[in-house]
Amino acid sequence: MFRAFIYLLFLFSGFFLSAGEVFILQTTDLHGIVHNTKNIAGAPSVIYSAAKDATRLGRDKTILVDCGDLLQGSLESADNKGEDMINLLNAARYDVWVPGNHDFEFGSKVLSERIKFFRGATLAANLHFPNVGSYRIFQKNGYRIAVIGMTNPHLHQWFFHPEEEGFHILPVEISYRRALQFLLREKPDAIILAIHSGIYPSKRLDDRGLNVFARRHPEVKIILGGHTHEKVVCKELGGAKVYYFQAGAHGGGYLRIRLNFDDNTRKLLEVSGEYVPVAPKDHSELPKAFRPQKAEVPLLARNFPVNPSREKLAEMFGKAIVKAHPHVKGVFHGALTTYRPRTKFLNRLHLFRICPFENRVLIANINLQEWNAILKEQKEAEKYGMKQLFFPEVDVKVLWASSPHDRFPFAFNSYAASGAGGRFPVLKAIIDNPAARAVLTRSRIFDLMETYIKEVYK
Ligand SMILES: [Zn+2]
Repeated sequence: MFRAFIYLLFLFSGFFLSAGEVFILQTTDLHGIVHNTKNIAGAPSVIYSAAKDATRLGRDKTILVDCGDLLQGSLESADNKGEDMINLLNAARYDVWVPGNHDFEFGSKVLSERIKFFRGATLAANLHFPNVGSYRIFQKNGYRIAVIGMTNPHLHQWFFHPEEEGFHILPVEISYRRALQFLLREKPDAIILAIHSGIYPSKRLDDRGLNVFARRHPEVKIILGGHTHEKVVCKELGGAKVYYFQAGAHGGGYLRIRLNFDDNTRKLLEVSGEYVPVAPKDHSELPKAFRPQKAEVPLLARNFPVNPSREKLAEMFGKAIVKAHPHVKGVFHGALTTYRPRTKFLNRLHLFRICPFENRVLIANINLQEWNAILKEQKEAEKYGMKQLFFPEVDVKVLWASSPHDRFPFAFNSYAASGAGGRFPVLKAIIDNPAARAVLTRSRIFDLMETYIKEVYK
């Protein structure tokens, strides 16, 4: 009798399920955009739309994945350190979040709180960090779908010694193989890689790109990507029948990916997908759980230089840093963006556009030869549009006159000092040399600028 019951149940479930469909809904690079503009719907609308879509398609058939760079990138998110973004994922019942490089910007304590608070699985097989898994198997519509997460492997090119902060990153290939060993035992019907990375190789970062990965690993059927802010829908990689998807950036829409299985053989027959744009709308129309707090935007200055030059902005950074660290002999700093405020009434939002990152002050002890090498490299850095200018606090000729091998403390932007994504290898090597005794301070450059501007341009 019991056996007959199970058999019947099996039959019925087979009968009611439609022919082998599973859906993946993907967002990526939402960058803390909890506000909306005329052109951009923002994360709340996009995440809410994806949640509604998941309910319409059937939660038992749908996996919701965010591929990272979620927490950081807006003034609101800078103030609440990405908390509202995790609230949104939870409200929409996301299954997977893969941290992107910018999700490490608030440091390990904040990241670990966000991971604990997220009700889905935080996945990154190449990251050793508490409560982060390598992969998870989802039972959807009777199929076993494995999702392996992977953060961007080049963290050390953007952050100063990430391992000291507790972020241990391994290469993608090694981490993938290790995760695969375990997950194959669980006999998945499809393997999906969710990675915070674009398709193409980067010489600067010594990255061979995802085409090479796809040729090596045709067992992965779908790669969900991010990081490069492109919109990519179902692009075949490496001629290997591995399909890449990337849902653009900044909250314009999401991707709906459909996996079609053969009901008898359980083989994945077809992968297809579409980008679903989300139109900007008033957030008051969203359910309460999807309505984040608005940022406060106080005025900081009434006499800010209108349309300041790059040099002028870089100099402000330099002066703001020296004010907090008066013992340094000079500062290397550039303008961080191409934004130039065209008003003398500078508010906090303008400042965020001047300084939209969580960069901190790094202090390193360098000698004359290194100082010259840094200047030489920066001279050639014009092409990157992020040249570091030098602002002396003392006459460096006098400083090194008697003994050029002596080391003195100089201040740097932590991102530039970490190589700025492979752009400044000479600077990175100088900073990494133990003799420099480099220290990443707690000084957040945005905060130093806020204090400085309020005082000087009030
Ligand atoms: Zn990224």
